[in-house]
Amino acid sequence: MGKWLVLLIVIWLIFWVLRSAQKLKAKVHHDSNNQIEDMVQCRYCEIHVPKKEAIVADSHFYCCPEHYQLYSQSTS
Ligand SMILES: [Zn+2]
Repeated sequence: MGKWLVLLIVIWLIFWVLRSAQKLKAKVHHDSNNQIEDMVQCRYCEIHVPKKEAIVADSHFYCCPEHYQLYSQSTS
């Protein structure tokens, strides 16, 4: 029983190390993306806004919450 527990802990540790390595890689990738500011287009007025300032709704971008509301009202 003790042997299985040790084995489980070892497997868990390997997974944990792999996962944190992946996380670190993703973070580095994300940071380098931030240097070149990602621009997205508002679905409503088609203006370009920085991605981090954009409103994301239904996997589309909007420059402000008002335009998300206006767009969803115009389609429904
Ligand atoms: Zn807009």
